This record gives sequence, structure tokens and C-alpha cells, in this order.
Amino acid sequence: MNATVLNKAPLSLLSIDEGRFALAHDRDCARIYQLILDGQAHSRAEIGRLLGMRSTSVSRVVGDLVARRLVIETVGEPNGRGRPAAILLAHGRRIGASVIYVSSQSLSGALVDINGHLVAERRTPIEGDADNDTIAAAMADLARGLVDAMPPGMSHAGTAVSLSGLIDLKRGQWLMASRWPRMRGLDVGAVLAPVAGPVEICRNLDAELRARAAREPEPFAGGTLLLHWGWGIGLAYAVDGEPFAPAGSFGEIGHWRLAALSSRPCGCGNTGCLETGAALWSLLPALRKRWPDLDQDEIRLARQLAGLDLLSLPQIDMACELVARALANACRLLFPARIAVSGPLSANPQLWARFNTLFRAEGTMDGFAMPDLAGVSASQLYEIHGAAAPLLGRAAEALLTERS
Ligand SMILES: [Zn+2]
Repeated sequence: MNATVLNKAPLSLLSIDEGRFALAHDRDCARIYQLILDGQAHSRAEIGRLLGMRSTSVSRVVGDLVARRLVIETVGEPNGRGRPAAILLAHGRRIGASVIYVSSQSLSGALVDINGHLVAERRTPIEGDADNDTIAAAMADLARGLVDAMPPGMSHAGTAVSLSGLIDLKRGQWLMASRWPRMRGLDVGAVLAPVAGPVEICRNLDAELRARAAREPEPFAGGTLLLHWGWGIGLAYAVDGEPFAPAGSFGEIGHWRLAALSSRPCGCGNTGCLETGAALWSLLPALRKRWPDLDQDEIRLARQLAGLDLLSLPQIDMACELVARALANACRLLFPARIAVSGPLSANPQLWARFNTLFRAEGTMDGFAMPDLAGVSASQLYEIHGAAAPLLGRAAEALLTERS
């Protein structure tokens, strides 16, 4: 792959690994489907040229892809002489995946096609005192609504549930979330499998990091950290875009316990966690004393905080110091080449400059380069894309090997 291709954002969420196919014909199908998906080939002749394949072989593969409705063949404009060449396009709405995710005090749902377009969206506010049954019923409703919203001809890849808080990935359970303290150990897999399975659960930060790396492979090559500094504080770590999440719970930097915050109570049941001095849930009361209209939704808050003199509050200055030190310590554990920081606080230029200075002052160990630190603008689209991508990929692989 050359540099111009790497620099270009992929057109689809799919990255098909042809090495997973045992039969040569299936591998050819995968390779040619990927070329068409990425917009690198639009005709049989182009495919033959790019892959050095004979036209009869190309035609057999394209015929299969068209029969499975993964690819649409349309007739192009006449070009003066002779018959116009057929144009090959990936069928964007051939497969859809549902994603259920947390947005502020709501559960949201999105039906995503293979190009990352949101075909349908739903949102259900959930009261702070909701228990397992209430949240399970809301999730099942969202999942059902998204399947019902599928356009004709779309195959459903399943439902991905992207969660914050503590998660048991292997058992498919949502153990704890600070926004809904009465919820404990919700069996998300059991709730959704009969409604809109297969079900896959993931950490929201892992999903976001996967999608950011897929969009920009070069800056996210090697080991990268994503620090989310918002309502809660958490970390994701990935190597070449593949998140490291061995069992589900990982990177709970927000619950690192610090002597400076000794007796402050935290939603996790402990005291003195980093979040008790630096997360928005603990900072908002002080911020609202100065600026009463501050929202609790992170996206709206990012816009509100951008223009405020946040550093004039001693609590914010202390939060910067605590997070910078925690992040520097995390670097001594994971040695990332790059750190992306998301969340509403990093959207404030003065705060960001101060944080950058503090982080640099924490230094690194002799012989190791300082990791590249960058603020990234928040967008839940990354989380949705990163959560949907594995399900969409598996569904596409299944269609590629389908025997008629
Ligand atoms: Zn805690």
C-alpha cells in the first residue's frame, strides 16, 4: 500500500482480512471486495490490472459478489464508441449493525451501515435511580427498534453494546456505572441475544480508539493511549489500532487512589480516587457556583467550557496536576508513542496549555522519548464506528464464504 492510500480516510468501516479464508476463490472475493469498498477499483478491467488477474477469473469473482449483493453493477455513461463499461460499487446498505451506547444520562442506539452512515438513531433517557430491570427493558426496546428500522435488503450483523464503567467482557456483563449506581452486574448478552443477536459488548474507549486508529493509521501506529477526561476518567491502550482489553476492565485510571484526595468518597465504593478530584462529576458543583448554566452533557459542555477562565478555579488547577501525574505514571507502565486526550476539559485552550506543560514537567525516563500528546475533539461517531466494525466485518466474511 502506498502513502497516498494510507493518508486517505477509508471509505468503509470494513477491513477484510483475506488471510482468514481457506479457499483461493474466497480470498480473491475478499481482495476484490476490499478494492471496490475502498474505491480503488470501479470496473472489471481495473481489477484485472491492479491484481494481474485474467478477465475470466475477475468476472467469476465479480459475478459471485454481485449475486451475494455485496457489489452492485451499474451501467456507466457512454464514452463515445462502443458499449459503456459497467461500474462496480459496494452496496453500502447490504449489512447493518446496531450499536447501543451511553450518552450522558441516556442510552442511545444507532443502526450503522458498512460506510459508517447512521441509518436510524434512537435515544432513551434513563433516570439516575434506574435498576437492572429498567435498564434491561430500555436496551431491549432500543435493540428491537433498530432492527425494525432496517431498510429492505439489509442483513443484520448483530448488536454491539459500548459501555462505560466496569465490564466483564467474557461474561457479557455490565458490572457498574457511575451514572446508574443501582445497576449491578447486568447480563447484557442474555437481555439482547434473543432480540437482536449476536451481541458483542465493548468498552466505549476501546471502540473510540479503534475507530480513530482506523481513520488515521499513521499517527496511531505503534502503542497509543486514549485518555478520556470527562464525566469520568479512563484510559484505552491499543497497538496498531487493536485495543488491549484482556478481560474487559482495563485502564481505570480514574479510580487510582491518591494520598492528596484521601477521604473523598467515590462511586466505586472507595475513597480518594483520582475522579474525586478531577472528573467532571466531582468538579461540576464548584464550576456551577461560578457558571450556573453548565450542562452535564459532555458535547455541550465542551462548547461551554472552551471560552471560560477555568484555571482561575483552584480545583481545576489541582485537577490538572493530578491528571498530568497519573498520565505520566501510566506512561511508565505502557510506554505509548502517542497519547490522545478527549473530553470537554481538553477543549479549553488555557487548560490544555497548562496540562501540556505539567505533563512535560513530569518528564520521562532516560532514553525514552516523550510521547506525542494531542487533544482530540469529542465525537460519539468514533465510538459508534469502532463498536460496529467487528460485527460488520464478521457478517461480511460470512457473506463472502456463503455457498448458494
Ligand atoms: Zn473510585
